[in-house]
Amino acid sequence: MRYCLLLLTLLMLGGCNQTINQPLQVREFGSVKNFLHNEKNTKALAVFRKVDKNVVEVSSQSGLFVVSNPDDVDVYVNKQRQLPDGYVPPDLIEPKVAHYADSGDDRRLMRAEAAEALEALFEAATTEGLDLVAMSGYRSYDRQAIIFQNNVDRNGEEHARMFSAQPGTSEHQTGLAMDISAASASFALEQAFSNTDEGSWLAEQAHKFGFIIRYPEDKMAITGYAYEPWHVRYVGNDIAQAIYQKNLTLEEYFGYHFEEDNS
Ligand SMILES: [Zn+2]
Repeated sequence: MRYCLLLLTLLMLGGCNQTINQPLQVREFGSVKNFLHNEKNTKALAVFRKVDKNVVEVSSQSGLFVVSNPDDVDVYVNKQRQLPDGYVPPDLIEPKVAHYADSGDDRRLMRAEAAEALEALFEAATTEGLDLVAMSGYRSYDRQAIIFQNNVDRNGEEHARMFSAQPGTSEHQTGLAMDISAASASFALEQAFSNTDEGSWLAEQAHKFGFIIRYPEDKMAITGYAYEPWHVRYVGNDIAQAIYQKNLTLEEYFGYHFEEDNS
């Protein structure tokens, strides 16, 4: 399957002096390597770096963009943007909420600011008589690598790339994401969660606490991921409000838009 990435520059020029009239196209979703290694696109890469101050290089190993701001709460990673090799968030703590994972498990961890916001979110749910459960937060690079390799061994590389994150590209490594479920959803991470009282409350309230539903319904062509009503991502109040009100994804907020390329 081929996609092209249109860089909608106007949306991302807020903190940037550059004005670019033509959208930049990066072909082949999931691999920017071919695009960037093509000599005639060297100039395009230079332009790209000017409009996206948070990409500084391309990993020679994965062929993906490497983000330069992994510690920022508005960092974003996806199937084309990875965290720097060996990245570990600086301030992981355990939010005081109901956890599914055992005590001492890394999955209970989030970055301090996100953890505090998660506590407020869960408390608000409790006052509505809803019991959210934190299923899976921080995920180290090493754990992603094991999960990915297991998937490759079981199903082949193509399947693995489609259904699990390449090491370094999981939002869970940022310490800003949490998978949430509830007893009413049998603690499963499934789309049926959206039909539970907890799931529908989360979809409507998360932004008030600085979280977004990172992979919304019908946005797979943009995010690269199927609908995940359980996966919330902390981005801070301002961005969360804007994304909720305008019904955007984080990609669109930052000016990216993936479109299927039928050419
Ligand atoms: Zn998740």
